Amino acid sequence: MEKSLRRKLTLSHVFVAVVCALLISIVANIFLEKQFKNYVINVRERKSEDIVYSISHQYSMDDKWNYYRVESIGIDALENGLIINVHDMNGKVIWDANIYNNGKCEDIIAHMSQNMMKRYSDWKGKYIENKYDIEYDSKKVGSVTIGYYGPFYYNDNDMIFLNTLNKIFGIVGIVSMFMALILGILMAGRMSKPISRVIETSENISNGNYNERISEKSDIIEINRLISTINNLAQRLQEHEAMQKRLTADVSHELRTPLTTLQSHIEAILDGIWEPTQERMKSCHEEILRINRLVKDLEKLSIYENENLTLNKSNFDISDVIKNIVLNFESEYINKNIIMKIECDENQMIFGDKDKISQVCVNLISNALKYTVTGGKVEISVKGELDYIELSIKDNGIGIAKEDLPYIFERFYRADKSRNRLTGGAGIGLTITKTIVEAHKGKIFVNSKLGEGTQFSVFLPKNI
Ligand code: ADP
Repeated sequence: MEKSLRRKLTLSHVFVAVVCALLISIVANIFLEKQFKNYVINVRERKSEDIVYSISHQYSMDDKWNYYRVESIGIDALENGLIINVHDMNGKVIWDANIYNNGKCEDIIAHMSQNMMKRYSDWKGKYIENKYDIEYDSKKVGSVTIGYYGPFYYNDNDMIFLNTLNKIFGIVGIVSMFMALILGILMAGRMSKPISRVIETSENISNGNYNERISEKSDIIEINRLISTINNLAQRLQEHEAMQKRLTADVSHELRTPLTTLQSHIEAILDGIWEPTQERMKSCHEEILRINRLVKDLEKLSIYENENLTLNKSNFDISDVIKNIVLNFESEYINKNIIMKIECDENQMIFGDKDKISQVCVNLISNALKYTVTGGKVEISVKGELDYIELSIKDNGIGIAKEDLPYIFERFYRADKSRNRLTGGAGIGLTITKTIVEAHKGKIFVNSKLGEGTQFSVFLPKNI
């Protein structure tokens, strides 16, 4: 059966408190009762010894007994539940409780039996007598018989003590049950309040309200983690939604220019305003190529940005990767008459995704070559530090204006739109580059001055 957290916590608190109180009272009762029984038996034995000792002092030479004192000892013993009779050597009665007050003796035994039956339902007790010698000068001068209800008995005071103890256990049990109930309700309130808020917010988020956040704080670590996970989830969904909206806007914006050009060119040809010359057809073809490139770029972007970037990690030498890439660009920099300088520390091993890191190097090197004028210079270096590698790609090309610098890693951002439309870039190369570097827990920085050149620095941890 489903129960609310509040009810379940409260009930479990009460259950634990009741079980603890019961266990404590049972265990304490068993041990205490055993100890108390031994104590009662010891007290009775000590009293018997005292009685024998006291009576032996009531004898003086020549068979003389202090009858008055013997009687007072006997009455005192009777009050304590002990029935005594004293005889001299000849069997003559010195004092006998039954003779003194037979009714009281019977009452005492009956009362003790009643006490014990009240305490133990299956009690089997009986009247027991022990006989002791009375000596004077190491000679036997008489005997005392001490009778009691055995094997042991509780007098009224003992019963009061045991009953009070049980009452205390009962009160402690009830008080702890109430405290557990209150504590359970408080605890459950403290736990269920933020959880209810989490549920409410999650429901709102699932209904598309991604700007919902939970501001509650809890002193329970797990609940705090749950809150921050839900908040992060909402943040991610909000970012994702914004990204999707931006992507749609960006794509339509990027497509509009080439499509409008194509449309107007083709309409003019169809309307007979323009002749379908080779030059015009070539211009239309270029626009189609641009659209094609854009679609390819979008495909790449969806791989790197949308999906959770999975890295196929392996150990590889980044200096080797750079050298190979530079070889592939050889014809390009030779054609542009660009001086290519490479300075790579040997054996720079890195544990990461080789293909994706290669993509980073390709993007940065191709940009450097693309934005450097004929006769310029590109310098590439790889420096190995203790736990990271610094990769630098520096050119003395056109540079980036100060106001454009903060945006160059954004999707579809191009520092100079008209010029870049000619160079063919859609403005996503650096977005992909940054995504890959960050997936490797690395950092990328840019330093540039318009008209002087640009330097990209990538810091990659050797082990991620
Ligand atoms: P694109 O495909 O347009 O090159 P990127 O994302 O690679 O897109 O670069 C974004 C913009 O940053 C470029 O359009 C360009 O304006 C600027 N940029 C990137 N690298 C350089 C560089 N080495 N020198 C000058 N400008 C650069």
